Amino acid sequence: MRYLSTRGQALRQPFAEMLLAGLAPDGGLYLPEVWPRFMQTELSAFGLVPYADAARAIMGHFVGASFTDDELTADIAAAYAAFDNPQIAPLVEIAPNLYLLELFHGPTLAFKDIALQLLGRLFARLLKKRGGRATVLAATSGDTGSAAIAALGGLENIEVFVLHPQGRVSDVQRRQMTAAPFANVHNVAIEGSFDDAQAIVKALFAETRFAHSVNLTAVNSINFARIAAQCVYYFTAAAQLGAPAAFIVPTGNFGDVFAGEAAMRMGLAVRKLVVATNSNDIMARALNDGVYAAGSAHPTLSPSMDIQVASNFERALYEASDRDARWLRDVMAAFAHDRRIALPEDILIALRSRYAATRADDHETLDAIGRVHAETGRLIDPHTAVGVVAANNLQLHKDGPVVVLSTAHPAKFPAAVEKATGQIPPVPPRLKQALEGDEKLDVLAAEKDLVRAYIEARVPGL
Ligand SMILES: *Cc1c(COP(=O)(O)O)cnc(C)c1O
Repeated sequence: MRYLSTRGQALRQPFAEMLLAGLAPDGGLYLPEVWPRFMQTELSAFGLVPYADAARAIMGHFVGASFTDDELTADIAAAYAAFDNPQIAPLVEIAPNLYLLELFHGPTLAFKDIALQLLGRLFARLLKKRGGRATVLAATSGDTGSAAIAALGGLENIEVFVLHPQGRVSDVQRRQMTAAPFANVHNVAIEGSFDDAQAIVKALFAETRFAHSVNLTAVNSINFARIAAQCVYYFTAAAQLGAPAAFIVPTGNFGDVFAGEAAMRMGLAVRKLVVATNSNDIMARALNDGVYAAGSAHPTLSPSMDIQVASNFERALYEASDRDARWLRDVMAAFAHDRRIALPEDILIALRSRYAATRADDHETLDAIGRVHAETGRLIDPHTAVGVVAANNLQLHKDGPVVVLSTAHPAKFPAAVEKATGQIPPVPPRLKQALEGDEKLDVLAAEKDLVRAYIEARVPGL
């Protein structure tokens, strides 16, 4: 299996090179040359076997010859041994035909762990085999940072730089990153929004000389390996339900919901992929009105989705255009210039055959947390609640199962949960422990040159 770039001007690479690079050198995003296809019997079996076995069967197609079966098996087993629920991604029915898919049972209590616990191990294995060092640079809207730190903190050959928007992540999210006791982890609070931080990351990747000099690599969802690991739970959930489901996905950077498209392209029957956004609703506007236009992100109760430029949408556009790299290059260049794309009719039709979209403001989000608590006794986090609002708006459970991806544990967002229900969610011991250390972070203006210098001063041997 090799990986090509959505912009069509990069060499095709095996999984290992794709994993280490993250972003393709032509600025595009990697996708598999061809999607693996599963047969119906294989799809049904994913509901009967342990999660790690399903993950191995699915990831095996993606990693190709880059890792042996034994290596992949060992890393998957170790990644998911760190989870506090043996099902890894349990499915819970909260109303007739309405399910939560709990993705927050990993070390940092958000769904990012599912991919990053595995990526960290594959990464470490590759670097050990090949020698050399890597520099991981990540922009985070709140959860990728702590998940990357939990996966890569303390590893020998990796330096980790995490940029978060200052004051725009929850206190728990910030402490999870800044109180981590690892010498190879560097937290930077950027004076700006997540989009500013993400733009700096992309710009530094585009500086080829710098990127090569530090072996820069990305663990944001622009890294296809994350999408590959995330499509697994769509397969296991669908197989457990035994009937085609609609999946509702609290969305920011469009990575998680694109993992649903990946599963569909590999043969999974899905009724609809619902993009659920908060009031930073660029994706809802793109799919509903046909215009993908970036505004400026503003803070909400679901900070991990306070994003206005959804990087992974490029992958969906590429597929919707039947993989027309030349068209995509033109469109992305126009977007970089105008911050706006008017989507052609045929592209919109292709996107809408798979995706629907709705948004929820903070008021509706609190209302959903309160309602789920009143009706089921469960506390849900504000990101999950945005998905529950979407479920309510679209009423898809009348025609079959609906699965809301529950992307974070409520204890990560105690203020919102308390406001909605009067209850403070109990803090799991692993989280309590993670928050105890002294905080360590630096503050930088949102300027790429400052971030470059900061990294250069801290990468050993430069
Ligand atoms: C990252 C995140 C999201 C958004 O996922 P994307 O892949 O960026 O769309 C939603 N909820 C939580 C809790 C997250 O951490």
